[in-house]
Amino acid sequence: MIIILFGPPGAGKGTQASALCEAYGVPQVATGDIFRAHLKNNTPLGQLARSFMNNGQLVPDEVVWKLVESRLSEPDCAGGVLLDGFPRTVVQAELMLSWVKESGLALSQVLALVVPDEELVERLAGRRTCLDCQASYHVQYNPPTVEGVCDRCGSHRVVQREDDSEETVRKRIATYHRETAPVLDFFKARGLATEVDGLGEIGDVAARLRQALQG
Ligand code: ADP
Ligand code: ADP
Ligand code: ZN
Repeated sequence: MIIILFGPPGAGKGTQASALCEAYGVPQVATGDIFRAHLKNNTPLGQLARSFMNNGQLVPDEVVWKLVESRLSEPDCAGGVLLDGFPRTVVQAELMLSWVKESGLALSQVLALVVPDEELVERLAGRRTCLDCQASYHVQYNPPTVEGVCDRCGSHRVVQREDDSEETVRKRIATYHRETAPVLDFFKARGLATEVDGLGEIGDVAARLRQALQG
């Protein structure tokens, strides 16, 4: 089963992904996390991605697709996958759908988290991310149990992402509306998307997502 968790930056995709992956027994493939791992290791792909990411722009489609295609062909994805942060353009969505057709897997659902822009800005301004496992926290709405220490992996490197500065956040939200929002219409037109209210307690949003997947 292929689940696409869709939404603007800060909608809660990363926060909701692990519970969904556990419930459905599929691995999480988050393109942003993969790029950040490359940044950390200073690979050529990381160097290429950095300038786009830190300017609030999307990494070019052909680069993203090469990466996703090779990740999807790994054995742990054979039974399905949860995609977080992909597809982000209509071109990526088209590539994805042709791949799905060939793979014989079923695209179960595109779950689209709906959150207004002003809330996104507030969430991203207070977001803290674990450098070691990418777990996502919020200084106010979802702090780690012990300040500065990751609940999931124990790392002490829970920091603000370089691209979560207010200026870059505004650019990323603009990029979302221009290039990524049309992907939702693309899936809606094919009867594949369910919109889910992303506001409220994290647990309540999780319950809505599970319900949308069952329905
Ligand atoms: P967020 O959690 O705020 O939605 P991500 O971690 O998913 O951000 O992505 C961070 C950055 O990585 C994006 O701003 C973009 O530059 C790049 N990126 C991630 N996924 C894609 C994609 N599918 N297509 C193009 N660029 C991407
Ligand atoms: P995305 O992966 O979609 O960019 P994240 O899961 O990283 O988004 O969440 C963005 C920020 O919002 C994080 O700081 C996270 O702790 C916080 N957050 C996530 N869900 C909620 C929620 N339901 N209410 C308030 N804050 C939330
Ligand atoms: Zn961690």
